Amino acid sequence: MNAREEVMDVVGQIKRQLRNSQEIGLDAPFLSTTSLHYIKRGPQLDGAALGEESYWNSLKELEDFIGNCDRCKLSTERKNIVFGEGAADARLVFVGEAPGVDEDVTGKPFVGQAGKLLSDIIKAMGLTRDEVYICNVVKCHPPRNRDPESDEIGTCLPFLKAQISLIKPKIICTLGRISAQSLIDKDFRVTRDRGGWRSFMGIPLMPTYHPAYLLRYPKAKRQVWEDMQEIMLKLGLKDPRRLKNQNRD
Ligand code: URA
Repeated sequence: MNAREEVMDVVGQIKRQLRNSQEIGLDAPFLSTTSLHYIKRGPQLDGAALGEESYWNSLKELEDFIGNCDRCKLSTERKNIVFGEGAADARLVFVGEAPGVDEDVTGKPFVGQAGKLLSDIIKAMGLTRDEVYICNVVKCHPPRNRDPESDEIGTCLPFLKAQISLIKPKIICTLGRISAQSLIDKDFRVTRDRGGWRSFMGIPLMPTYHPAYLLRYPKAKRQVWEDMQEIMLKLGLKDPRRLKNQNRD
């Protein structure tokens, strides 16, 4: 029995015991809110609980576990949970901040204007969206596009960690401030600190600008391209633009 099966077995037995007691007219034993929550939905995982072994066997299983989530207040106004999409064994995972309006409507990450720019960046790297994995720190759209709050990030982050433990990418690329502050350091400043290798869950991480920032400040595209070239180098990808120029010579 692995750790996950063991936990599920214990929870199953407690549930059966409580149901039996109820059926024969016994009062429910006193249980803390956390325990009741655990029995109803499973554990509120923190990073440490994930350890090396993933609690879930697949991204689908994790998505099913998240279900029609109401674990934080973002659930009250969102239309769709934006779980993430791409290759389950992607070598590169992009992590954005939170779904925007277009993503909330479609349930897919990075499909609006910023998403189109991200697709262009991925293509320029010689990859497709299907070959990478794209997700966000929080999976529900914050009202009026406000920043996700720390309790919302705290609630959703274990699911991002679980996605990463299942995908086991070679590289993580954070897009913008919120994802860098959530995965690296709360004092991270993208303009000051982007472009150097960091690490998250033992995986090399490259923090860069958010594509929405590039829409406002196109001059920063050059720096993002430098960051992508670092990633390409680590992944052993050739720079398709440079190849094209070489062929012309
Ligand atoms: N911005 C993000 O951070 N994530 C999305 O999915 C879309 C826009």
